[in-house]
Amino acid sequence: MQKQFEKGTPGFDLVRGFALRDRLPLQLRLDVLDVVFDLRPAARIMARVEGEVEGICRELLELGCFISVGKGVRWQRKSHGIACHDWFDDHGPDDKLEAMTLLYIGRTETSAIRAREADETRDDNVFGLALGYPQCCIDWVASRRRVPELAECFDLYTRDGLYDPLLWPGAMALDAQLTPHYPCSVECADSLKITRARLELLKGLECAPVIRRIQDARSVCYVMDAAGRVTAPVAAESLAGVRLARPAFPAAQRLNLVP
Ligand SMILES: [Zn+2]
Repeated sequence: MQKQFEKGTPGFDLVRGFALRDRLPLQLRLDVLDVVFDLRPAARIMARVEGEVEGICRELLELGCFISVGKGVRWQRKSHGIACHDWFDDHGPDDKLEAMTLLYIGRTETSAIRAREADETRDDNVFGLALGYPQCCIDWVASRRRVPELAECFDLYTRDGLYDPLLWPGAMALDAQLTPHYPCSVECADSLKITRARLELLKGLECAPVIRRIQDARSVCYVMDAAGRVTAPVAAESLAGVRLARPAFPAAQRLNLVP
């Protein structure tokens, strides 16, 4: 951990306070921590234009991040179930949509600007590299010609209806995924390295409530209905005609957490 964020320093309280900020999506908080602690060179986050973006920018600057602001605004459906999922509805504005700003953040000005410019190319390959995604996962997305959707997690990352609590992108349904990208497989070493590094970081920052949330999201059963909607947690006995995904191991054990 960098000196300015060591325990007992104002920096530690600052970054810990940000990591614990429950009103912000966990995905956003983890993306920011990745950059602050050099797990990745850059990240893209979204903030509401109305009443949110200014405060987030102020905190990012205090944390030593550089910001490059995306051009224009994007529209996102209000209060949809997945607060963390960054898809857009560009038909706006209307009263069901809210305006979002895209922020590209890096530890250097160059990496922040590079991430924005990479996104503007609309090339997943170029953008993935700028965000520090593993090369194998970038190549995998390129070979399938599109980024997966949440519902595909059942096909891609479960075996016999079981998921690995350490690497389960389906936890996105509960805003608790541990990778910033869709891994190329459940065995992807580079993706597993990111999940472990994020957990270690949260332990070092003494973020017990966040770790608990990540653990809880890996202790439950996920369901996908016929329309491809993914929800969790569900009581498995009460369902018929849907696909289920359950943890293959106890989450605390697999995440190496003290019970
Ligand atoms: Zn990979």
